[in-house]
Amino acid sequence: MPKPKLSVLKFEGAQELLSTIAGDYAVEITKIWERKGKMITDEEIAKKMKLKVTEARTILNRLHYRGISCYHKTKNTKTGWYSYTWEIKTKRVLELLLEKYSERLEKLEVKRNFEQNYAMFTCKKQCDYIPFEIAVEYLFKCPECGATLEAVDNKKRIKNIEKEMELLKGQSETIKKTQ
Ligand SMILES: [Zn+2]
Repeated sequence: MPKPKLSVLKFEGAQELLSTIAGDYAVEITKIWERKGKMITDEEIAKKMKLKVTEARTILNRLHYRGISCYHKTKNTKTGWYSYTWEIKTKRVLELLLEKYSERLEKLEVKRNFEQNYAMFTCKKQCDYIPFEIAVEYLFKCPECGATLEAVDNKKRIKNIEKEMELLKGQSETIKKTQ
């Protein structure tokens, strides 16, 4: 099992994703896993994190539910006890991240298109923000103060949306290259 070159935790939203799924400790477990790079028992994880074994297992089980962790069960022939060694599927984390990115990208695209297609209008005093269709009805005079309604400059907002879109696209490309 080769060690991953780039930590999954470096990707935009990765830590948030893990925390949402299994709590903040999930990030720490992933760190431990990436450092170690091979199967690790839940006892060892618990010890490293100063948690009870049951607590560590709860986190691992939550990750397992989303396909992020998997375990191997081995029976100790002398004691009859089972021991569990775990693996964190960083590929799965990246897969979930890609899904998240594309959802976010879709939303941003809708938002950007809205900003591009629906100009808002306001007067100097900014009494109110009025969409184009309504501004036409008011003959571009503010219904409150009578001043001229002018298009709100939303270039900056569009630029910020596009910046975020670029970032997500870039991260998606990097993930796709690592797979
Ligand atoms: Zn006004």
